Amino acid sequence: MGITLRGGSVFDPDIGSQVRTDLRLADGLISSPEEHEPNDEVIDVTGLLVTPGLVDLHTHVFDGQDLGLSPDLVAAPSGTTTLIDAGSAGGHLFGAFRFAAVDRSAARIRAFVNIASIGTTSIRLGGELRTSAYIDDGVAVECIERNRDIAIGVKVRASGDVGGENSLEALRRARRAADRVQLPLMVHLGPAPAAIDDIADTLRAGDILTHAFTGWEDNRIVLGGRLRPSVREARQRGVLLDIGHGMSGFSSAVARALIDQGEFPDTISSDLHTYSRSLVVDLPTVLSKLMGLGMSLDEVLMRATLAPARTAAMADGIGTVRPGAPADVAVFRRVHGPVTFTDGFGGTSRGSERLEVVLTIIGGRIAFDARADMIKETR
Ligand SMILES: [Zn+2]
Repeated sequence: MGITLRGGSVFDPDIGSQVRTDLRLADGLISSPEEHEPNDEVIDVTGLLVTPGLVDLHTHVFDGQDLGLSPDLVAAPSGTTTLIDAGSAGGHLFGAFRFAAVDRSAARIRAFVNIASIGTTSIRLGGELRTSAYIDDGVAVECIERNRDIAIGVKVRASGDVGGENSLEALRRARRAADRVQLPLMVHLGPAPAAIDDIADTLRAGDILTHAFTGWEDNRIVLGGRLRPSVREARQRGVLLDIGHGMSGFSSAVARALIDQGEFPDTISSDLHTYSRSLVVDLPTVLSKLMGLGMSLDEVLMRATLAPARTAAMADGIGTVRPGAPADVAVFRRVHGPVTFTDGFGGTSRGSERLEVVLTIIGGRIAFDARADMIKETR
């Protein structure tokens, strides 16, 4: 027996737009609507938006750790079915991360391994790179080799507030680790050092700059209102710009300047963690915010489904609605009306629409269901 989502507007990342069609799920996979069987559960999603389950490229879901949120709290209620943890765990705590998050969550979880063996242990630590003994590419490489099934790259928070003068050395060692395991390097952008030009010059095709639209004075990707030459060159090489909203990872002023010039981010992620949650809210809110700043619905959905799935080298079909792909699906209501968004730099922006999650299905099972609330509201 399967589930047929009937009458929705289905966003198909393979064509980059929406199609009015039924979507059938059976045996944990997306199947063809023609295979509909009489005893299928039929869910009427007329007037609703159906998308592949969202893929969030930057989260912190090391449950039980200071920054870590419960993955099941972050994923299904946000229409998100795949979470990428952005370096909460370093090599010396990765086993605990696997036990606390990956093994226990309904959502699919992958992770970047922090170049610091202790990971982002505590916000009180003031940065995992302060003590140079923790910056260890050997530990990161060994960890990735042992966890190839879920470890998808190396993360370094190469900024002054995390590593002080150690930041450049950490960046160099993270580069070395990523090269040794042949996986992407994700670098976060914060206050210098490292300077944005040093970071941009370090990154290669497939690497990721996260918090790319941040608003740190003197260390942002915008220079004189335009994309910095070093970042422009990096993009031409195939370096990817990720949002990673978080507490201080997103400035609406920077975003507005870039989006107005057609410089869109490659992926849109939340950087949800214990301390950013009240500002970020969830990934659909970040998508709505970027729509308010000038991107279309299809453009933001692409960057939270297939684009991050490709960046994280997810198995075939994740982030799509192809027949045979895992049945990870989200259903949203498009709520029209004026909405005001805030960023972490005191800036605000406006929008005219927000996305509200109605249903989340992970591997063919309903993991979140707000249909009852919706019926009550419309009465
Ligand atoms: Zn983060």
